[in-house]
Parts: sequence; C-alpha cells; structure tokens
Amino acid sequence: MKFVSTRGQAPAVDIDAALVAGLAPDGGLYVPDTIPAADLARPRDSLADTALATLAPWFAGSRIQSHLPGLCADAFAWPAPLRALAGDGDHLLELFHGPTAAFKDYAARFLAGALSALRTPHAADSTILVATSGDTGAAVASAFHRRPGFAVVILYPEGRVSPRQAHGLECWGDNVRAFRIDGSFDDCQRLAKDALSDADLRARRPLTTANSISLGRLLPQAAYYAHAAAHHYAAHARPLNVIVPTGNLGNACAAFIARAMGAPLGEIRLACNANDTLPRFFGGAGYLPQPTRATLANAMDVGAPSNFERLRHWHGDDVALRGAFVARSVDDAAIRATIRNAEARHGIVPCPHTAAGLHLLEALRADGDRRDWAVVATAHPAKFDAIVEPLVGHAVPVPPALAACLARPAQGVRLGREPDALRRMLLDA
Ligand SMILES: *Cc1c(COP(=O)(O)O)cnc(C)c1O
Repeated sequence: MKFVSTRGQAPAVDIDAALVAGLAPDGGLYVPDTIPAADLARPRDSLADTALATLAPWFAGSRIQSHLPGLCADAFAWPAPLRALAGDGDHLLELFHGPTAAFKDYAARFLAGALSALRTPHAADSTILVATSGDTGAAVASAFHRRPGFAVVILYPEGRVSPRQAHGLECWGDNVRAFRIDGSFDDCQRLAKDALSDADLRARRPLTTANSISLGRLLPQAAYYAHAAAHHYAAHARPLNVIVPTGNLGNACAAFIARAMGAPLGEIRLACNANDTLPRFFGGAGYLPQPTRATLANAMDVGAPSNFERLRHWHGDDVALRGAFVARSVDDAAIRATIRNAEARHGIVPCPHTAAGLHLLEALRADGDRRDWAVVATAHPAKFDAIVEPLVGHAVPVPPALAACLARPAQGVRLGREPDALRRMLLDA
C-alpha cells in the first residue's frame, strides 16, 4: 500500500515512512492511494480485536506488521462504551476513559508504540513536535513519557486551555517539555508545520509530529467507530449515525475511513463551535480559513482545520465533498444551555465539546429525525470543571488517571512565537 501527498509534489512512500515523516516533504498530508476494505460489519469481542481488524490492511508489508496485535492491545486497553441515553435512538460514544481523559489517548498511544517499534537500534533520538489546543499534548506526553529514543516538545496557546488541561500538559518532566506560546492554536500549529518543513533543521535534529496530520494518529481512530457501529448493527440491524465534535477534522476523518472500509456507519455530522470555517464551506461558501476564536470548547478552536486537505482529496471536488457532510456551528450560549440541561434531558454531564454535539442531536430530534445517533464524547467533563460545575451546580468526580496527573507538580516555559525561537530551542536542546 502506497501513500501520496495531498499536494502531489512528494514521492509515494510506504506506511512506515509515512508514519515516521508525519508531514509529507511538500507540506501536504499523506493519504493512501486507495482506502482498503475490511470485514468491519462483524462485531468483535474487544475493542483491541476490532482495532487489529481495522489496522491490519494498512500495515500489510510493514516492518512492524507482526507487532500489530501487541500495539492494538496496548493502545486500546480501556473501553469505548456506546451508552444508550434517555431518548429513543440517542447514544453517547464515550472515548474519555484513557489516561488523560480525552479520545486522543487511543491514537497517541498507538503512534508511540508504532514509532518505538519502527526505531532502528542506535538511531538518534527523535523529537515529537506537537501543537495542541489542549488535549493532544497531554495524550502525546502520556504516551511518550519515558519512552527511550524520544523527546516530546509541546506548544500550546497560553491562556486558551483550561487550568486542568494546562496542568496535564506541564506535569510530565523527564523527556517531555511544554512551551506556552503567546498566540492561538493556529499560531502553534504554524510553528510546528514550519519547523517540520525546514529541511535544514530536520537534518540536524530528527523531528516528527504527533498531530492528527500524522497517519499514525488518524488511522487508529477508525477503530472505535468500527467497533461501536458493528455492535450496534448486530443488535438493531440499523446503521449508527455519528455526530463528531470537530476541530482539526481528525476524528471525523477517522469515522469517514471506518465507513469507507466497510463499517456499518450512516451519516457523519460535524459539530463545530463558533469557529465556523467548516459550516460555511459545507453551507456553500468557499473554503476560507479564519483566525481562531476562543470558545468554551477550546480543543475545537481551529480556524484552518488541517485534515480538510484529506477530505478534499478523497472527494475529488468541492461539490462532491459538500454533498457528503453536514457541519453546524454551535455557539457558547448554546453549549452552556446544553450542559445546564443535559442531566435532566439525557442523564449525563457533558464536556463543552460533547455538549456541542448533543446540541446538534437535540436539533435533529426537534426536526423529527428518527435515526439512531451517537454523539461522540470526546473528553471527560472533569477536565473542564471550571466551566461545567457552575452550570450543573455540583462537583464532577475526577477519574483516577486524571487525578494522578493533577497530583503531580507542573512546569512549563514561555516561548516567543517567532519561528526562530523554536528553531533555536530545538537546536540547543
Ligand atoms: C481534539 C478534540 C476535539 C476535536 O477533534 P479533531 O480531531 O481535531 O476534529 C474535540 N473535542 C475534544 C475534547 C478534543 O480534545
């Protein structure tokens, strides 16, 4: 299986090279020449088994093909329950049971295992450069912490993540360093992309990415959609439709991949916050990246969703792409109201990102939609206690893994947002 760049100016590579490189040398994202099919309609016992079935075709011929069962067992070690909510056909796909309480734990853990397995003995240490709007950095830090041969550099927008998210980025130490950038997530992402496409820098300091632009992050995420959809279909003989809280489009792309591979998924609907680049595009306007706006659902504060290039590549032209997805913007007032009413209405307390998805579900029901829907619960509400608790009027219990992370001391460093500051820091380290 070969992977080409969305920008068409880089040589085709195999999966191993695509994983190690992260970003293609022409600045594009790696995409497969075709999306392979797999028997994903059959429900499997464990999430790790489904992950193996989902990932096996992608790793045919890889140097680490024989490691795949172990990598899947390690990365899909905690459940992703599809929980039925109070309303008919309403579900929550809970992806927040991992070590840093967000869905990104699964794929970050997989990528860390895969890159470790791909490492050749005596290779120079590799630096994982990760721009984060709050949750990616913690998941990547947890996955790579104390892993021999790897260092992690996290760039995050100062003041734009929740206090508990900031703690989760800064509490690691050892081979993990966190830098606060005076800017937005898009500034952080631009810094990371510039460094990754700086051939001179990369020759002196082996660099890779763990953002969802990396295939090693993207592909594993297809597994929990395949698992939930297969079990739902086996029980009800109806496809599962999903509402995905969306920022960089990584999680939604993974749902698209799962469906394209054969998982019994129906519609994939995108819930965005006030950053409405995607709702505007899908509503018929052009693709016009916007400066980021800070919202309550900060992990979705993205004005230039990086995986858009992949969706465009797969759909050929914008008319076809617009026909394939519905995207809606949910503002902070609606997110607040949804959190406030969620216990009475659905029997759950959502994080602000999940609340954006729930809001779209409520709108669909109000329009008379009778299909089976799962809102993807992307993070645990305890990570956003300062927002959620005043709205629901009580404390939200902290899951044990998150509590352990919060109990450790935190330390981060400020870094200027000019590209040279990052370059100098990477070369000095
Ligand atoms: C990262 C994240 C999102 C957005 O996911 P994308 O793959 O970037 O679209 C949504 N919610 C939470 C809690 C996240 O951490």
